[in-house]
Amino acid sequence: MILEATKAGADAAMEKEFNPWLAAEARFNEAATLLGLDDGLRKVLKTPAMEVTVHIPVQLDDGRLEVFTGYRVQHSIARGPAKGGIRFAPDVTLDEVRALSSWMTWKCAVVNIPFGGGKGGVICDPSVLSQGELERITRRYTADLMDIIGPERDVPAPDMNTNEQTMAWIMDTYSMHKRTTVTAVVTGKPLNLGGSRGRVEATGRGCLFVTLQALRKFHMEPTETKVVVQGFGNVGGKAAILMHKAGMKIISVIEWDGALYNPNGIDPIALQKHRQETGSILEFPGAEEVDKHEAMFLECDVLVPAAKENVIHSKNAAKLNAKIVCEGANGPTTAEADKILEEKGIFVIPDILANAGGVTVSYFEWVQDRMGYFWNEQLVNGRLEEIMVNSFKDVVEYGERHKVHNRAAAYMLALDRVAFAIKLRGIYA
Ligand code: NAD
Repeated sequence: MILEATKAGADAAMEKEFNPWLAAEARFNEAATLLGLDDGLRKVLKTPAMEVTVHIPVQLDDGRLEVFTGYRVQHSIARGPAKGGIRFAPDVTLDEVRALSSWMTWKCAVVNIPFGGGKGGVICDPSVLSQGELERITRRYTADLMDIIGPERDVPAPDMNTNEQTMAWIMDTYSMHKRTTVTAVVTGKPLNLGGSRGRVEATGRGCLFVTLQALRKFHMEPTETKVVVQGFGNVGGKAAILMHKAGMKIISVIEWDGALYNPNGIDPIALQKHRQETGSILEFPGAEEVDKHEAMFLECDVLVPAAKENVIHSKNAAKLNAKIVCEGANGPTTAEADKILEEKGIFVIPDILANAGGVTVSYFEWVQDRMGYFWNEQLVNGRLEEIMVNSFKDVVEYGERHKVHNRAAAYMLALDRVAFAIKLRGIYA
């Protein structure tokens, strides 16, 4: 009986630790307290500027009418138009969209791009919907949000289960209503419809730039750097390839179905080809297979968690054997684990900085669309490098000046920038 009660208590504690909104709030509160923000400003910074719920009637392929619910939350427009993705999933909630939109505010502020934060979602199950049904949902959702989105107001992007095609539909619907083509209303569009070169690799490339800065800080040579990557998708796969090209050794790749290890380095380009051909990273000739639950604790210089949230938590953080953690994913470390990593002296490049390469190139896409003049990839990558390197320095210097760890520094810097914009603009009454 006592054992059961203890287990229930432990489960509840883990559930609380894994709740992303509570995690976001914990980070916000820590930074706001360290900054000494007054209650009024805290309220303004915390509360979303606008929340819209729409009920979208859509005719399904079999003729039935269905009503889907969608949200768009603009957390902040203090530093510029709201910016953030739209996700399609059966379990989308307004609370989730709220939390994710505030995350975007801090991410845009930390890399100092002139955007606020937003997020959207539609409650639907894309796995059972046809392309035609998804298109009708997307177009009606866009039409219902006509008055709140736009290049100067709120600029959506892809997120879970939405993609370039979804963005093309949004752009077209918005443009039809405006009677003129408005490519800058969304980012993440196909290249020949106003998308930006370098967007696909941007998040992984941003991870590379900040990791190189961290190596430099600790006088570590890229060619002597051992990397473990969790998640071999858009972020982790691209980061692994770019880090490999920069001379680092990818000693382990961890996926949902298994993990690979080679102390002499895995060739991620060959691995990507192998995965495309076989559908899995397993049975790759260039590495041995190891326990996927243990690979994250291999001794390495850099760990890149780039799969999902909450993988580093209070029960496993002490086992980490990395010098640097570059958070490719959103929220891979729980607030409880932050303290453990700090005590272990692990240098964490927090998600709102490490994976901000994606939103930075989205910003470049918006700029190029508004100019009607498109940059070559070299220019995109060079400007991305400049922003990532400067932002890394800003965060690390801020942390050293205020004697706080990098995540607290990133949040403090972001809150400070948004609070400064609010104070300068004043409260309109
Ligand atoms: P993705 O779907 O392309 O890749 C994720 C990879 O992780 C997949 O290969 C998947 O099989 C693997 N994976 C899933 N569960 C796993 C598990 N339990 N263990 C190991 N591997 C697992 O997604 P992505 O776009 O690369 O996004 C990854 C993370 O990065 C997410 O947290 C996302 O929110 C964040 N992020 C992405 C971008 C972007 O530009 N794509 C930008 C910022 C943040």
